[in-house]
Amino acid sequence: MKVIKFGGSSLASGESVSNAIDILTAEDQRQVMVVSAPGKRFPEDTKVTDLLIEYAEKTLHHQDTNNIVSEIFNRYQKIGKYFGISNTELDVIHYLLLNLPKQNYPNDDYLLAAFKAHGERLNARLIALILNQLGIKSRYIDPVEAGLIVTGEPNDALVNPESYINLDHLKIDPNEKIVFPGFFGITPSGHIATFSRGGSDITGAILARGLHSELYENFTDVSGIFSVNPAIVSHPATIKKMTYREMRELSYAGFSVFHDEALIPAIQGEIPINVKNTNLPTESGTMILPNRNFVPDRVITGVASQKHFSALYLHKYLLNKEAGFTLRILQILDKYHVPYEHMPSGIDDITIIFNRKFLTDQLIDLICNEIQALINPDQLEWINDYAIIMVVGEGMKNKAGVSATILSSLQEQGITPQMINQGASQISIMIGTKKEEASLAVKTIYRQFF
Ligand code: ASP
Repeated sequence: MKVIKFGGSSLASGESVSNAIDILTAEDQRQVMVVSAPGKRFPEDTKVTDLLIEYAEKTLHHQDTNNIVSEIFNRYQKIGKYFGISNTELDVIHYLLLNLPKQNYPNDDYLLAAFKAHGERLNARLIALILNQLGIKSRYIDPVEAGLIVTGEPNDALVNPESYINLDHLKIDPNEKIVFPGFFGITPSGHIATFSRGGSDITGAILARGLHSELYENFTDVSGIFSVNPAIVSHPATIKKMTYREMRELSYAGFSVFHDEALIPAIQGEIPINVKNTNLPTESGTMILPNRNFVPDRVITGVASQKHFSALYLHKYLLNKEAGFTLRILQILDKYHVPYEHMPSGIDDITIIFNRKFLTDQLIDLICNEIQALINPDQLEWINDYAIIMVVGEGMKNKAGVSATILSSLQEQGITPQMINQGASQISIMIGTKKEEASLAVKTIYRQFF
């Protein structure tokens, strides 16, 4: 059995839903279909999830919601009409949408989560109707029925291990297709909570693990995962195969085709993932596989960069001999509730890298002042615009001199990295540069290895 997940752009219109159904029915093993909410039909279009967020906000501010409800309903109506779904059946969707504000929510965050989740919930119901209308035996299963239990924040939930026990008890007839909504689960008290944005990938992975799927096929609008951002290097190579941990490192550094949290259930269940293109479904796409027995076919699998960092550089002679130095820095960060991303160090210096979203100008001043006063470094430099480049590849483990090659190719372009750090797994090298040098650095490294 295979779990197959479709992203929002693959289910945005009647034509695209029809295409997804062709993919679903092309193989008998493709039994469980996880769906996103209808996404964008064209670049300026709005995703149904974003329309639902607007609906939630208007509800919370007691504004008129007639237009936004019509706009959302219209998206489902158009898809339904394409397949000749009757008005009576479509009215159920309209009714469910209109009723959202009347439900009981513990607080505004739960309300927002429930509204958002209906993008996928209504889409899955509609697609099950469409399949049955087309004579394909299908069943809509709701996370309530399946026992997909989540905990944590209502809009940033985490799967509860109990879900896997519940999924083990789910009975699926070999002749039927299951349509399951992505993106949300049910809290222990019975309310809806969603995963973070793009979280239908997570639902697909949970079902793949829970139902012991032989493969998790993830259909999206690109032909697999590119080895570098196509906005930086045109027509980059597609990654044919990679390991889970390569994918984790790359998605941390900005590869967004597949949700990084969705890897965890797949890793736990050792389910291979295949990222494929809905418009070219016979292309092999990208396989994401367990590390065990993996034979890389190149040194480097991907190069990624992220530019939303700031860094604090501290230099102090004999820093290596001073006990408690790092602890005191961490205590200062803790006092201001500022998390850090990385802290590479040398004998006399240390760089602390922050995600800028956790900082304000005032916090930067407070932290720098306190570190200067309490730790008294010989040099303290704040680098506001800092970028991190990740070079990832299982093939690096067996190859000497990769860092040296990277450094010399960067130097030829006049780029002197501010920091270079090799992960203990030996499959990634992290390079810190000034923000404005990041794209050139990525291009240079890509050209060197591909
Ligand atoms: N519809 C949700 C979002 O736009 C989840 C998903 O598409 O995976 O974030």
